[in-house]
Amino acid sequence: MPSETHTLRLFNSLTRQVEAFVPVHPGEARVYSCGPTVYNYPHIGNMRAYVFADTLGRTLTHFGYRLTHVINITDVGHLTDDGDAGEDKLEKAAAGGRNIWDIARYYTEAYWDDVAALNIRQPAHWSIATDYVEQMIGFAQSIADKHCYLLPSGLYFDTATVADYGRLARQSTDDGEGRIEAVAGKRHAADFAIWRTTPAGETRQMEWDSPWGRGAPGWHLECSVMSAALLGLPFDIHTGGIDHREIHHPNEIAQNQAYSGCDHSGARMWMHNNFLVERSGKMSKSAGEFLRLQLLIDKGFHPLAYRMMCLQAHYRSELEFGWEGLAAAFTRLKRLVMGVEALRDIEPLPPVDQRLVALGARFDAAIADDLNTAVALTLLEEAVAMKKIEAGQKRSVIAAMDAVLGLRLLTTARADLRTRPKTAMMDETAIISILAQRKEARAQKDFAQSDALRDELIAAGVEVMDGDALGWDWRIIV
Ligand code: AMP
Ligand code: ZN
Repeated sequence: MPSETHTLRLFNSLTRQVEAFVPVHPGEARVYSCGPTVYNYPHIGNMRAYVFADTLGRTLTHFGYRLTHVINITDVGHLTDDGDAGEDKLEKAAAGGRNIWDIARYYTEAYWDDVAALNIRQPAHWSIATDYVEQMIGFAQSIADKHCYLLPSGLYFDTATVADYGRLARQSTDDGEGRIEAVAGKRHAADFAIWRTTPAGETRQMEWDSPWGRGAPGWHLECSVMSAALLGLPFDIHTGGIDHREIHHPNEIAQNQAYSGCDHSGARMWMHNNFLVERSGKMSKSAGEFLRLQLLIDKGFHPLAYRMMCLQAHYRSELEFGWEGLAAAFTRLKRLVMGVEALRDIEPLPPVDQRLVALGARFDAAIADDLNTAVALTLLEEAVAMKKIEAGQKRSVIAAMDAVLGLRLLTTARADLRTRPKTAMMDETAIISILAQRKEARAQKDFAQSDALRDELIAAGVEVMDGDALGWDWRIIV
């Protein structure tokens, strides 16, 4: 593994086609993923974008490419509105007098906690936007004369100065999604601020001096600057959620064209994950209790159950979140962990058994087909279920498959999957002790006592699971 016969093919949003991956630098893959805006906790929809980018990165590694992955941290410039009239999300979060740098740090760390819990690999660089302001000013200066114009509110990019603006979104400079109203004096609806000058008489917690006055960089500028600085133009793949295909990425492309003086888009391929949707609005960060990973953990789900849920769907399909769906994904994860339990301490051996080789090749074909993780998962299950096969070889094949899917199957113990809901009234030791007493009572045929102990557990929200197919003897009722 991997077999040489599969060409990695990926859907490129620029051409709306599945294309062979041909690296800019032979043997390498350079990938940039738009990262979180750190004014609040990420919701699980945001985390779908990073599970996708991580699965892409793992796939590139699997096929032998030396991966350089960059994920940025947006701590300045992202407005509450996609037009240019909104407020900076971080400045708004800091409006109550909190220190903006503390807010950014706090939520960056919260995001990194989720990254670790979902087994998303560390990229080569976490690029923090505010570390690059000087380079952003330099970039803006180099394109200002030919591509920008100044308004009282800042420096704006004239989208008519580059060829074929909006080709990624399939829209032109005139379809600005009603953004023309937002800023008086804009030449075209789609023009956007690359530097936002602080209005006279106001101060921002984050602001810098520039040739266009004291102010802050625009959000689109940061990604162009950091991707060019860390990966060089052109690089291979730029990722983000599907919403970025409409405004943020067309604007990055326009800046990249202006900066490089040629019509390439900066990245050869642009890839977008579709949204995780939730009908009752719990995904909205403004809706009180919103769907963040910690909420899932508090309800007793292991975070990798959410990763499993993501992998079950194709990244380009919308995925509807539901608790039943999450529970089903969790059960599937448990089955896999139990299925490989006996292989954990086995010495891996090179797979030579033809059945394993063939299965490995089918797995490669599935992920090489624009990351078909849903099929790849079923092939992993086939490998786990294989009987009469040399254990060391089987272990190697499963480990190679899991290196792509990232479910940590061989290092997670069954007990690790039992996360305790926050609302649980009894701890694990107490539960196990009562279960032992109940076992003893049953052995003595004291069924009244056994039932009483069972009722005691139920009253504490614990269900006793006699004869459970997965071998679980209790669970906390969520
Ligand atoms: P933000 O922190 O808002 O900049 O978003 C971080 C990433 O999450 C971006 O790539 C977004 O496109 C992506 N994203 C936002 N909402 C969702 C969602 N519901 N499902 C999947 N991805 C999303
Ligand atoms: Zn970006």
